Amino acid sequence: MPSYDLIVIGTGPGGYVCAIRAAQLGMKVAVVEKEKTFGGTCLNIGCIPSKAMLHTSELFDQAGHAFGKMGIKVGGPVLDLAAMLRFKDEGVDGNVKGVAFLFRKNKIEAHSGIGRIVAPGKVEVKATRGPSGILEAKAIVIATGSDVARLKGIVIDEKRIVSSTGALSLEKVPRHLLVVGAGVIGLELGSVWRRLGAQVTVVEFLDRILPGIDAEVARQFQRMLEKQGITFKLASKVATIDSSGPVLKAIVEPAAGGAAVGVDADVALIAIGRVPYTEGLGVEEIGLKLDNRGRIPVDGRFATSVPGIYAIGDVIAGPMLAHKAEDEGVAAAEIIAGKSGHVNYDVIPNVIYTSPEVASVGKTEEELRGANIAYNVGKFPFTANGRAKANQQTDGFVKILADAKTDQVLGVHIVGSDAGNMIAEAAIAMEFGAAAEDIARTCHAHPTLPEAVKEAALAVDKRAIHM
Ligand SMILES: Cc1cc2nc3c(=O)[nH]c(=O)nc-3n(C[C@H](O)[C@H](O)[C@H](O)COP(=O)(O)OP(=O)(O)OC[C@H]3O[C@@H](n4cnc5c(N)ncnc54)[C@H](O)[C@@H]3O)c2cc1C
Repeated sequence: MPSYDLIVIGTGPGGYVCAIRAAQLGMKVAVVEKEKTFGGTCLNIGCIPSKAMLHTSELFDQAGHAFGKMGIKVGGPVLDLAAMLRFKDEGVDGNVKGVAFLFRKNKIEAHSGIGRIVAPGKVEVKATRGPSGILEAKAIVIATGSDVARLKGIVIDEKRIVSSTGALSLEKVPRHLLVVGAGVIGLELGSVWRRLGAQVTVVEFLDRILPGIDAEVARQFQRMLEKQGITFKLASKVATIDSSGPVLKAIVEPAAGGAAVGVDADVALIAIGRVPYTEGLGVEEIGLKLDNRGRIPVDGRFATSVPGIYAIGDVIAGPMLAHKAEDEGVAAAEIIAGKSGHVNYDVIPNVIYTSPEVASVGKTEEELRGANIAYNVGKFPFTANGRAKANQQTDGFVKILADAKTDQVLGVHIVGSDAGNMIAEAAIAMEFGAAAEDIARTCHAHPTLPEAVKEAALAVDKRAIHM
């Protein structure tokens, strides 16, 4: 029976990073993966393919609507969707092969099949090909991630009623795409197909988009998406979708009850969130109780209630984000190796890769008000930033929330071109406990978009220069 220091079940960003860090620390490590390729949701059907489609569809949109104004005459761009999907698949391929390379480099043994924990320290691998067997280890990390959340009574066929997975591979641009859910995935993929020519309607149960994001940011961002042609039906729910005819017929009801309306669509994207995935893992049989949302409860050291079994990533509580899973993977490996791994959950950036992008880290205004924390706000619009004006990409703003007494930065919220890259500066500042004054006194290169971050920090003390 092969024996290891650590077996990691699942090779998404949580699992593969945990395995590599453990190998770096001298452990003999095995991973178990049920899919054909490594990298989990993120690399195969999540972050990577969606960002490839956002990149290419944005360039397509710019070629059609922005190049001419810049003096670049290319004629009307013609969409070759098959080639665009191939470009996306090549990006995925490069990434998943990268993980296979890193496993070899770090001498991590990969086992292909469904991993089931039969007892503490024992994992049965039901091979998809080849013989099944039992592996032994001193410690086990569960990194089995998440799956698409489904709507009762609506069957996802990944052709006409799709999850994000199907929406990343549609063979034709739908005339009308109905998106159920105004969260990150719905808005990113809705943007992709809008730019490629679909009419897009987003139905959201709540009376706002992007729950959890700063309300002012969400309001302004909604207006920007509406200008791009996306229609929103807020405080509404999709009750049924009839797929018996050539056109999908959805019934949309007000969330609070009242008269329903019919909406016809060619494709419906169900993007109401994701749920932890523990199918076939055998957790309940070994006495591991899931919480009321199907997550594996862990303590501050990622240990489950069963000795020697740890869990990280989407399958435990916290934001379902790749970088959160990665950081937990590193911390768990270090803890198992007897070191002091740690994740700072107060500083986990969140990015929506639309155009413009939305990025945030730390607390929202609503959260600070709810916690009775007095704060000052510094805001700076990209209309007053030199680089944004030069590029004519002036939509959006930077907002910094700083403690009213200490000036410590408590939250940073950015809507704007390249916001996803700009938020790293805010995360580092917050990780070091910076005050708004520290950001304001840091020299920022000119002309750059991050100068707007510095100006927002100055604005906390009402001394922005360019406003
Ligand atoms: C469309 C989309 C876009 C996204 N975009 C972003 C983004 O831009 N940024 C971001 O931070 N996050 C994004 N996410 C979320 C991100 O993908 C997840 O947070 C991340 O993948 C979670 O990592 P994980 O390691 O916990 O699990 P996963 O990536 O889900 O990996 C789990 C792995 O475990 C395997 N597995 C499960 N059970 C077993 C078993 N019993 N035996 C063997 N193998 C098993 C699965 O096959 C899978 O490979 C996106 C998600 C989607 C769907």
